[in-house]
Amino acid sequence: MSKQIKQFAVIGLGRFGGSVCRELHSLGHEVLAIDMHLVRVEEFVQYSTHAIQGNSTDEMFLKSIGIRNFDHVIVAIGENIQDSVLTTLSLKEFGISAVWVKAQNVYHQKVLEKIGADRVIHPEVEMGIRIAQSMSSDLLLDYINLSDEYSIIEIRATLPIHNRSLLDLNVRVKFGITILAINGKYNMNVSPSPSDIIFEGDILIAMGLNNDLKRFEDKMF
Ligand code: ATP
Repeated sequence: MSKQIKQFAVIGLGRFGGSVCRELHSLGHEVLAIDMHLVRVEEFVQYSTHAIQGNSTDEMFLKSIGIRNFDHVIVAIGENIQDSVLTTLSLKEFGISAVWVKAQNVYHQKVLEKIGADRVIHPEVEMGIRIAQSMSSDLLLDYINLSDEYSIIEIRATLPIHNRSLLDLNVRVKFGITILAINGKYNMNVSPSPSDIIFEGDILIAMGLNNDLKRFEDKMF
């Protein structure tokens, strides 16, 4: 099955926008890289499908590059909150359905939410939480916060659940969580069936309420 290629535009090629741009490009997507500074644009020619210099607060500029045709636009302007807000406003007025914006602080975040940003990203805060979560447990390898209550975790299976099936462990009923995948020594089992067995060292990807995930993690000791 071939991976769906999407069209992205990244506005602002600083550390955050730049790494988003590079990664999307290396994943094979079409990426339009935009920055107001020519040096940044030149640097990203090799990491994008097209790289254009321009000011994203200028609606005529956005129209001229056909921004309406993009599935997903990432606004990675940090320091200049006014430019970030104006750009987001224009993109939403153009009817772009997925506008993700980097916020500098909580006030910036609130404004972005009010004007319809589809996702507000706080890279430093989000990364801080993820690192703290994985530091606080030897077993927790990664953590994605879905909402205040729900998360997805990546956790290493230990001896207490070795050689037991999902049915036997009764994870759904006992813990209320869903095992999305078991990454074993030899293969990745996505959407495992109840009879599938977990072995010590397998990496489990589990989704559920934070408290339930914590209870499941405690079962490992
Ligand atoms: P990071 O922490 O990700 O490096 P930052 O939060 O410090 O970035 P800035 O450096 O202020 O954010 O902005 C990121 C990039 O956005 C810069 O390369 C800057 O030139 C570009 N930028 C800022 N305003 C605009 C604008 N109105 N139009 C296009 N590009 C812009």
